[in-house]
Amino acid sequence: MWRRYFSKTEVFCAEGEAAGDPEKILREVTDNLGRHLPEEFLDVVRHSDPDNLTWAPLLYRAPWAILTGGAARGPVTVAGDAFHPMTPDMAQGGCAALEDAVVLARALSRSRSPAAAPARRHLADGVAAYIAERRGRAAWIVAGAFLSGYVQQGSTSVPGVRAFAVKLFRDWIFYRFVFPLLADTMWFDCGDLIAPPPWRDDDDDDGEEEAADKKSHVH
Ligand SMILES: Cc1cc2nc3c(=O)[nH]c(=O)nc-3n(C[C@H](O)[C@H](O)[C@H](O)COP(=O)(O)OP(=O)(O)OC[C@H]3O[C@@H](n4cnc5c(N)ncnc54)[C@H](O)[C@@H]3O)c2cc1C
Repeated sequence: MWRRYFSKTEVFCAEGEAAGDPEKILREVTDNLGRHLPEEFLDVVRHSDPDNLTWAPLLYRAPWAILTGGAARGPVTVAGDAFHPMTPDMAQGGCAALEDAVVLARALSRSRSPAAAPARRHLADGVAAYIAERRGRAAWIVAGAFLSGYVQQGSTSVPGVRAFAVKLFRDWIFYRFVFPLLADTMWFDCGDLIAPPPWRDDDDDDGEEEAADKKSHVH
């Protein structure tokens, strides 16, 4: 299996033409985008099964949109790439999707717990708690991945003084101060799944039913 990420400026012309045609993808990589790569890599590319080739644009959701934009409607929400697609430079998309799953399951479980106030014992509240917990971290990872990709790859595609400035930033600031912070980000403990409380099917009108419950226990 091989995969190669090309920067936006590199693929700008090729993307539209090659996207749906495996033969063109192969040619584009061997003759153009990947022509400076080691011969061993190109050899693997040339022997690829065309049926397994895909070409997809890299997408990300802007961090400020993750912080302030919509992510749920009532009890319906998004997780993983649907919530926070990111560029691949920190290899965190799948990890973040798994974190979402844990946090969402925990938040839903808490929202249905008999310990929650009856008025808040609804799935929508669990979903809202999940979004509130995940927004900040998701925005930070997306921003970190973008910055990481930009200074490490983008600097090769901007001209003159700007390229020099990006290189200085990369070597003197990014690798010394920013990257260690980003690396720490990857060691993240999103907590454990808690044991689910006893499920209640009669979730609605909990207040009244609980009161009736208590009354019947008193007698
Ligand atoms: C080449 C590559 C390398 C990667 N490397 C890493 C890595 O090293 N570490 C890391 O953490 N992340 C990595 N990622 C990112 C990671 O794969 C994704 O972030 C992760 O898979 C997102 O999970 P998801 O469940 O949100 O979405 P997906 O894994 O995309 O799952 C969505 C599913 O929904 C299905 N689907 C779509 N539309 C419909 C529909 N209408 N009806 C029914 N089903 C539908 C799709 O077929 C798919 O199975 C990589 C991604 C790529 C492409």
